[in-house]
Amino acid sequence: MRYAMAVDTRKCVGCSDCVVACQTENNVPIGFCRDWVVEVTDGIYPQLEMEIRSERCNHCSNAPCVRCCPTGASHIIKGGIVLVKPSECIGCGACIASCPYDARFPHPDGYVDKCTFCNHRIVKGMKPACVEVCPTKCLYFGNLDDPNSEISVIMKKRKWKRLIPEAGTEPQLYFLI
Ligand code: SF4
Ligand code: SF4
Ligand code: SF4
Repeated sequence: MRYAMAVDTRKCVGCSDCVVACQTENNVPIGFCRDWVVEVTDGIYPQLEMEIRSERCNHCSNAPCVRCCPTGASHIIKGGIVLVKPSECIGCGACIASCPYDARFPHPDGYVDKCTFCNHRIVKGMKPACVEVCPTKCLYFGNLDDPNSEISVIMKKRKWKRLIPEAGTEPQLYFLI
């Protein structure tokens, strides 16, 4: 079992519904976010291209945030989901410093927080909140070890990339291009 998410950069319109859905679903404190939208412009005028993509924790298979956590609060569960146990987090920020994707933030309650792949929904057979709400259906979530899962099928059909692969973290957030 290897959970992953794919973001179709050709369909994302940057509406930020995914961000609002995550904040509501996960009670994210005001001023912070577990996911965010990035707009990148490439090329030379007048030949310009813009990519819009929804980003979040990459649930890296080789996660530096887990390795550097001094208490074991940051850990990986079945399916490869990287989580933080608030009761064991001392808020030292080592994981925030180690993450190449800037995916974590200090929760005002004293622990470090980030995307959980909505594990509380997955265990009930539901999709993550951001995936559920996206109006263009550009977010895919599922088991990459299952060749027939929706995410496996779309990734076989399309070209994709991962962000900062040179960091060697083996991110499980894929961007369809
Ligand atoms: Fe992109 Fe979907 Fe998020 Fe809107 S809801 S910004 S289309 S990923
Ligand atoms: Fe850890 Fe950052 Fe990778 Fe998420 S994106 S698993 S916080 S290193
Ligand atoms: Fe937020 Fe859940 Fe989407 Fe992660 S998977 S960005 S926690 S809504």
